[in-house]
Amino acid sequence: MANPFPPALDYLVQQLHHLPGIGKRTAQRLAIFLLKDTDENAQNLSQAILRVKKEINLCQECFNITETEVCEICANLRRDKSTICVVEDIVDIFAIEKSHEYSGVYHVLGGVISPLSGVSPEDLRFSELIERAKKPEVNEILLALNPSTEGEATMIYISKLFKSSGKKVTRIASGIPLGAHLEFIDDATIGRAILSRREI
Ligand SMILES: [Zn+2]
Repeated sequence: MANPFPPALDYLVQQLHHLPGIGKRTAQRLAIFLLKDTDENAQNLSQAILRVKKEINLCQECFNITETEVCEICANLRRDKSTICVVEDIVDIFAIEKSHEYSGVYHVLGGVISPLSGVSPEDLRFSELIERAKKPEVNEILLALNPSTEGEATMIYISKLFKSSGKKVTRIASGIPLGAHLEFIDDATIGRAILSRREI
């Protein structure tokens, strides 16, 4: 069947389809919406995308997103620097912050070990975590990875890394269903999971 979309529109469909959660049909609907929208709105959208790419970087300490060198959480003197909470992705920080039950700092790993998807330990920020944890003020590594098979394996890997370090390794408690993503869990459940964490 011939593609009814002119090349320029088809290119936009492809770019939108590349976004997470956007299927082909939705991408087509969005592209047609953008085509009919005002020039001003289209300009604003394209500039907003370019602006985040230019102005937002990763925190030098924890790899959270920030407009400065160090993110707001790391720069906050009231945050407890003795506990580092290890998360897969930046969205997990937002999920945990919403629970208001955690006052330590974070470390964004950048994913989990997944041989099937070709993600090996070298692809993740383990060496940065080990470096950070060497600071004497750090005494707990709190693991808050999503409870998938890969997440579980990665938590075991991290606990082995710190086995003889003298640092306590804990993980958030059950209550988070297997296979669930932290970003979709309600605040109260995340809060409870953090408060009732256990040593591994
Ligand atoms: Zn930071």
